[in-house]
Amino acid sequence: MTEPDRYHVLNPATEEVITTLELAGLAETDAAIARAKAAFDGWRKVAPADRARLLRAFAAAVDADRERLAATEVANAGHTIGNARWEAGNARDVIEYYAAAPERLFGRQIPVAGGLDVTFQEPLGVVGVIVPWNFPMPIAAWGLAPALAAGNTVIVKPAELTPLTALRLGELALQAGIPEGVLQILPGRGPVVGQRFVTHPDVRKVVFTGSTAVGKSIMAGCAEQVKPVTLELGGKSANIVFADADLAKAAATAPYAVFDNAGQDCCARSRILVEESVYDDFMALLEPAVHGVRVGDPADEKTEMGPLISAAHRARVAGYVPDGAPVAFRGSAPEGPGFWFPPTVLAPVGHDDRAFTEEIFGPVVTVVPFRGEDDALRIANSTEYGLSGSIWTSDVGRALRVARGVEAGNLSVNSHSSVRYSTPFGGFKQSGLGRELGPDALNAFTETKNVFISTEE
Ligand code: NAD
Repeated sequence: MTEPDRYHVLNPATEEVITTLELAGLAETDAAIARAKAAFDGWRKVAPADRARLLRAFAAAVDADRERLAATEVANAGHTIGNARWEAGNARDVIEYYAAAPERLFGRQIPVAGGLDVTFQEPLGVVGVIVPWNFPMPIAAWGLAPALAAGNTVIVKPAELTPLTALRLGELALQAGIPEGVLQILPGRGPVVGQRFVTHPDVRKVVFTGSTAVGKSIMAGCAEQVKPVTLELGGKSANIVFADADLAKAAATAPYAVFDNAGQDCCARSRILVEESVYDDFMALLEPAVHGVRVGDPADEKTEMGPLISAAHRARVAGYVPDGAPVAFRGSAPEGPGFWFPPTVLAPVGHDDRAFTEEIFGPVVTVVPFRGEDDALRIANSTEYGLSGSIWTSDVGRALRVARGVEAGNLSVNSHSSVRYSTPFGGFKQSGLGRELGPDALNAFTETKNVFISTEE
């Protein structure tokens, strides 16, 4: 008998242990996959209207539990209570949105000679969803909701650091009447449970959100079985501010576009590109905005930024701000227990400075000047990442030219919005493969089957 793998789940704002969980090993993972496989045939045959009803009941259960889910995320991930409430609402909305899908999972009828040709969107079977620690609730929901709606059974592996809200979502699904085995939450280590999703032949699709390095290994592993993958990976997104922009608004919002969730956001606009002629004006406006970011107890309604997720992650982030780093200005952070790191602005930085090229995933932003549209695009695109970005200008034509020119999947003009459950989300280049959310997400959880029926006598 091997010893159980016990994991202490911490509150990153206090460093206190919230609970201790037993992580699944290989045997438990294989057993969960077997349960999911056994549940598949029944789930795919649930009539579309009934599957829709069950998903709506699941969304309603999440809605009724929002405060508890949010409080759990505040404690487990250090998210501010405002963000955590949004995240619980987002999980509800995503499930509700895809509850409409079972009754709209249309095939096509294609004109052919000698008969009738129709297509069906068939579910894949067991889907494994691997979730990171930065947005545990929404990212779990973005995978599980369309997968279930399409008739698949799902196993979610939350990140080791943040399993609690995913576990609660699993309980709520059962309470709502979703049959046993259809949705399972399996806390475990990435290289054990996550890797088993890759190697087990009965897992027919892997949805992975996390680092680019692990995403590449998942994709390579899935190639062995020609197993489909969706990858949502890292980012180093540009916030491009032109001289003709509403500079005050661009500067006031820029800190929140990178320091939200303490910068632990794959869409963080962690490179601010400012047109040279307004660079000094922008920096003068940015400084008070950065000092204004309220960092502290995430349970306090007024707090805008909480701690980092772990001591190890804080050490990694701090590595980008060594002694002598070009700190233009920085905000404050509490002293004492908790994995705190102050909002930090680095400038001037070179284009090959690692703080400018690598994903920091913490509250550190770099600012560089540019000269004109072509230069802005050249700098914005000189990265292997391509997830999101913002463009600030009052010229509509320029906004569209630059939006078309930036090699990224999710852009916003005169705002920093990235994710809406009803619009597609995903990355160009090494930021990912495939799209989540929006009207087409079910394509990623179904195979198209073509059937020809002869009408000949
Ligand atoms: P990570 O890659 O270390 O872990 C992500 C998940 O993968 C965790 O559940 C982990 O247990 C699992 N995992 C780790 N090694 C594995 C392996 N060998 N096989 C299978 N699964 C494995 O990343 P992280 O530190 O948890 O998250 C931070 C990263 O995620 C950042 O780079 C960030 O940009 C990225 N991210 C991207 C998006 C997006 O939508 N594009 C969203 C959130 C996070």
